[in-house]
Amino acid sequence: MEQTKNSIENENYCLVCGNEVIHLVKPVSAECSFCGKTFLADSACVENHYVCDDCLKLEAKEIVKLVCLRSAKTDPIDLAMEIMASPAIKMHGPDHHFITPAVLLTVVANYTNSRNELEEQIQKAEDLATKFAPTCSWHLGTCGAALGTSIFLIVWKGLDPEDENSWTEGNLIVSNSLKRIAELGSPRCCKRDTYIALEEATEFLRQKYGILLPVSEAKCNFSLRNRSCKREDCIFFNLKYSLV
Ligand SMILES: [Zn+2]
Ligand SMILES: [Zn+2]
Repeated sequence: MEQTKNSIENENYCLVCGNEVIHLVKPVSAECSFCGKTFLADSACVENHYVCDDCLKLEAKEIVKLVCLRSAKTDPIDLAMEIMASPAIKMHGPDHHFITPAVLLTVVANYTNSRNELEEQIQKAEDLATKFAPTCSWHLGTCGAALGTSIFLIVWKGLDPEDENSWTEGNLIVSNSLKRIAELGSPRCCKRDTYIALEEATEFLRQKYGILLPVSEAKCNFSLRNRSCKREDCIFFNLKYSLV
């Protein structure tokens, strides 16, 4: 098998949940957690996830898309944490600019029972995030996870950026997130900023569109893995949920 950078980095860690992958003495028939095809597996993680050779090569954005498209979840925090559990998603970086709109598009489609255009919508969100928020924009005094909320809104509502109402909505949903990120944050925690952006976007959807998504408490898994974690000074910190 040709080894890509991604598959080497994730060789010993489950691409679904980040747990250790164990070699099986006797191969068993198993369904790949990403593509759903059945293979004879000689390894699996402690949570019983198996990932086939092709899916081991998936890039981060492909994993975001696959998890969203197979998900029936309506809780954005729950879905984001499922996605971010994969070691293919880096601790920091612009993947989160796409995770935010992809998660919001998915949970709203599930909540409103309108998944017909979800794949196309997620692709549009990826194109916008890649083109307009390709890097972290802290040097501009902003955060890409917050920008992801307006990417969601523009795609979901088909907003025209030159329209006055669209301009207002797009800026409002971003500013709600940015204000709270500014008040609660510090540099280098894309997980915290993603939780905040999702919470604020959910509140915006409730107030503006009467969409009442369930939002679970974000019990952060990443505190011990993020050297910049503010620990006790972060509202999402709870050591008992942190992965080692
Ligand atoms: Zn696993
Ligand atoms: Zn597969």
